[in-house]
Amino acid sequence: MGDTRQNQNRFSDELKLIPRWAVVGALLAFVLVEYYFWVVLPGQSHHPSRLPFALRFYLLISWGALAALSMLIIGYISNDAPRRGMSAQLWMICVIIPGGVGAALYFLLRQPILASCQACGAHIEADYHYCPQCAYQITACCGNCYRSARVTDVYCVHCGHELSTDHPPARLHAFSR
Ligand SMILES: [Zn+2]
Ligand SMILES: [Zn+2]
Repeated sequence: MGDTRQNQNRFSDELKLIPRWAVVGALLAFVLVEYYFWVVLPGQSHHPSRLPFALRFYLLISWGALAALSMLIIGYISNDAPRRGMSAQLWMICVIIPGGVGAALYFLLRQPILASCQACGAHIEADYHYCPQCAYQITACCGNCYRSARVTDVYCVHCGHELSTDHPPARLHAFSR
C-alpha cells in the first residue's frame, strides 16, 4: 500500500513538469482537430463518410486526444530533458514522429536525472558518494570501507565499523535528497 502511494506521489511530481503552455496547447489541439474533422472537412467533401456514426465519433475523439497527448508530452520533455542532460529541442521535434514512435524512443532512451552538488553545483550521478569537483560528501558512507551507509545506521553493514566514531560522523554530513 505504501508503495502505491509513493508511486502516485512520484507520478504527480512528474505531472508538475508539464508547463501551463502545454496544457493550453493540448486543449487547443483537441479543439482544432475536432473542429477540422467535424466542421471543415465535411463541408469540403462531396461524398459523405460511409462509416457508422459511432465509429466515426470514436475515431475522431481518439485523434483529438492523441494530438492533445503529444502536446502534453512535448511540454513534459521541455522540462524533463534538461535535467537529464539531453537536448530538449531535439526530442521535442522527435515526438512529432507519427504513431508515438518518437515519444516511445524518448522514454526508452532517456538518461537518469542529473543531480548537482550542493556545495559547488557540479553534476553528480546517483551512485556518487563524493563530489568529483570539490570532494563534498553527497551521501553517508562508512569511514572505514567507504561503502554507502544509511544515515540511521550505527554500524556499517559491510564491515561492521562503528559509524559514530568517524570524524565527522557520516550521518552528520549526509543530506537527504
Ligand atoms: Zn561539489
Ligand atoms: Zn564499512
